[in-house]
Amino acid sequence: MTASDPLIRPESQPEDGLDRALRPETLDSFIGQEEAKANLRVFVGAARQRRQALDHVLLYGPPGLGKTTLAQIMARELGVGFRMTSGPVIARAGDLAAILTNLEARDVLFIDEIHRLNPAVEEILYPALEDFALDLVIGEGPGARSVRIDLPPFTLVGATTRLGLLTTPLRDRFGIPTRLDFYTEAELGLIVTRAAKLMGAPAEPEGAAEIARRARGTPRVAGRLLRRVADFALVEGDGRVTRALADRALTRLGVDSAGLDGADRRYLRLIAEAYEGGPVGVETIAAALSEARDAVEEVIEPFLLQQGFIQRTPRGRMLAHRAWTHLGLPPPGRASQPGLFEGEL
Ligand code: ADP
Repeated sequence: MTASDPLIRPESQPEDGLDRALRPETLDSFIGQEEAKANLRVFVGAARQRRQALDHVLLYGPPGLGKTTLAQIMARELGVGFRMTSGPVIARAGDLAAILTNLEARDVLFIDEIHRLNPAVEEILYPALEDFALDLVIGEGPGARSVRIDLPPFTLVGATTRLGLLTTPLRDRFGIPTRLDFYTEAELGLIVTRAAKLMGAPAEPEGAAEIARRARGTPRVAGRLLRRVADFALVEGDGRVTRALADRALTRLGVDSAGLDGADRRYLRLIAEAYEGGPVGVETIAAALSEARDAVEEVIEPFLLQQGFIQRTPRGRMLAHRAWTHLGLPPPGRASQPGLFEGEL
């Protein structure tokens, strides 16, 4: 995915390796997602007491909300090993077989972007999830035979940004589907404060709140903005993250008061100016912005939808009232010609 502004894009960037030290390591230090956490605490506790593998968990929600972090925390709290891979990386059934046969009993296997598994790989995952067994075909032609290999009981934690793209049989094999939502400003404020402390860049409460307010509801974005603001604080201030400094730094970085960046504003302005507020199809939007359709749907739109800037309709995306206000543009009058752009879908 190549959404334009790397600062505010929630997918991970190479630099994010730096904040591995900032990752919470226990459920108690993981801020927010209260509902998900409460459930996971029960299921993890039960699995630990029974000394059984935790049932398979599916974590879904926009990028940067803590799916990988939660998977690692589960393994740690279960006291078991953690293996991590991702859907597109497992090219062949043999690759998955190699990973599965190397697991220890009750280990957690984390597969990121699980909606992008190759169908042949997904096929051998089913019996592995259900019966902890692999059905492999050995040899070719008439001499080929199928053998069944037993696997240790393990826990698959699958993560996806696109629940709708998961096949039904795969979805059905997860006993614990868990949805992650955007964080509140208060939660992000706590995350920023904690991270600032760990980074040695003390944040005043108003400074942390300003970053939280503009972080697109996403901890990964909050961490990234904090690092940039801390740079400004060091060079242009006394190292303390104050509100004025955060505001100045974020504005200079193109992050506006609602946390929208250049790509978000281009998206909204396109629908406003070229399509009179829509509806307009996502393909058309993606082509006009030179973005991949996936990036538009996974990265740009979820936050704009959640914040009430846009609406999804059967005929395409439409600007909501808040978008017009935010852009400082008058919504088109009712007299404008509806349906003029219908052919575009
Ligand atoms: P995802 O797998 O959903 O894309 P990650 O688990 O990689 O997201 O999290 C992205 C970043 O945000 C990580 O650096 C992580 O430390 C941080 N993070 C995520 N959730 C939280 C949280 N609840 N509290 C503190 N930091 C968090």
